[in-house]
Amino acid sequence: MGNRFQVRDRFEQGAQFVDGRLRPGTSGSTHTVVDPATGNGVYDYELASTADVDTAVAAAKAAFPGWAGATPGERSDALHRFAGVLAERAGEFAYAESLQCGKPIKLSTEFDVPGTVDNTAFFAGAARHLQGQSAGEYSADHTSYVRREPIGVVGSIAPWNYPLQMAAWKVLPAIAAGNTIVLKPAELTPLTSLMFAQAATEAGLPDGVVNVVTGAGRTAGEHLVGHPDVAMTSFTGSTAVGKRVAEIATSTVKRLHLELGGKAPFVVFDDADLDAAVHGAVAASLINTGQDCTAATRAYVQRPLYEAFVSGVADLMATVRLGDPFDPATDLGPLISHAQRDRVAGFVDRARGYARVVTGGEAPKNDGAYYRPTLITGAPQDSEVVQAEIFGPVLVVLPFDSDDEGIALANDTPYGLAASAWSRDVYRTGRATREIKAGCVWVNDHIPILSEMPHGGYKASGFGKDMSAYSFEEYTQVKHVMYDNTAVAAKDWHRTIFGDR
Ligand code: NAD
Repeated sequence: MGNRFQVRDRFEQGAQFVDGRLRPGTSGSTHTVVDPATGNGVYDYELASTADVDTAVAAAKAAFPGWAGATPGERSDALHRFAGVLAERAGEFAYAESLQCGKPIKLSTEFDVPGTVDNTAFFAGAARHLQGQSAGEYSADHTSYVRREPIGVVGSIAPWNYPLQMAAWKVLPAIAAGNTIVLKPAELTPLTSLMFAQAATEAGLPDGVVNVVTGAGRTAGEHLVGHPDVAMTSFTGSTAVGKRVAEIATSTVKRLHLELGGKAPFVVFDDADLDAAVHGAVAASLINTGQDCTAATRAYVQRPLYEAFVSGVADLMATVRLGDPFDPATDLGPLISHAQRDRVAGFVDRARGYARVVTGGEAPKNDGAYYRPTLITGAPQDSEVVQAEIFGPVLVVLPFDSDDEGIALANDTPYGLAASAWSRDVYRTGRATREIKAGCVWVNDHIPILSEMPHGGYKASGFGKDMSAYSFEEYTQVKHVMYDNTAVAAKDWHRTIFGDR
């Protein structure tokens, strides 16, 4: 394993990356990054204080004029070099991501890291295609055009489930558009966000363009959101914390981008390819040990396929190999922490009182934060396992009769991040894609994402888009520039104010 390194040595200078270098936090509170597969601490660091946030914001503010003034071509070149550094370090990134999250190494290696490299390459290209509306004479006496300008310092807050990809989704569109950024990763998982910022510096991005403060949500996070020199807040995390972030951002009149929780439905019509739906449901419910905001969590299966679907999913779940995240054969790693494992177990244990746990529903006996793939049936639509975000390897399967009912059930939670529809009938899937209220609807698949396509929610899943050219809408502001073409002092419209000509 040539890509393994000693985390304590790599980050001995601290877990804050400000103005192009690592430094220690100054909050006086220490946090430990834990390997959830073993429960062993791998790195102790001092969390960021509010003063550390101030220093990072000042660095980003100082770097803003130079970076905003760089040409799109210059920013694009820097991002291309950045993608190259990330690709060279792919193995180290995969190691660190698997270590801090417990992700199976095949997932980090084949999904998290190449997705991040591809995102970086995408935004390197997109940086040169930032466009305003075309110029024109919308009044006979004037020429108008639209400038798309960066906003300033962006303060971003990210969750622990995909730390590297979340750092990329926040940082890349912001800096490609000419903003500078202060990113606060989750306390549990700072390592790959710090490495990402280091790689940006190594690729030649100016100091202060990408800064990372690793602090607690309540202190460093809230201070970043409310900071007067931060022009925009972009947040990915739970809906509960998103509401708090929205309050602070709104009270300081900031641009706001919220990517929140999900409870994705997986709707199987009675003409679907059953084998494909079963494989899709197991993969999409267990990806990242179910800690994926778009994971399939509620499968609604039309009555004729219901029994076969339930037994197919149970059989396939039984083949999933839990184990050491660094074993290439491991399918399912631990949850992010023992606390998260206990939270998931709490949902399942309470469900035993009103539903049937068909398979799973227990933790294997080892020191890691593991939980077996779990299938639940018979839960009422208004029960918590159907309505709340569990964020673990748990799939609930429920039957439906008419297409109307299947679509209504799919829409019946507060969330609207993602969904899928399974059928061979283009009219049925067409209707589902139109009527399901979610930011993404897959047809006969569930999970794949693309750098070119937007990701973002409807309803309580938030607003704003990550990835794709749409994210530039979030990270730029639009200015109308209007030129007088007449060179006349007493303009025609002045008569409405004084004199009559
Ligand atoms: P979380 O909301 O607990 O924490 C997210 C981040 O917010 C962390 O960095 C945390 O330190 C910070 N934070 C906590 N309290 C804060 C406060 N008062 N002010 C400012 N920041 C604060 O979420 P989590 O448990 O880390 O991640 C899981 C959640 O993220 C799930 O709900 C999941 O659906 C969501 N998520 C959404 C998307 C998406 O694209 N919609 C993607 C990934 C994860």
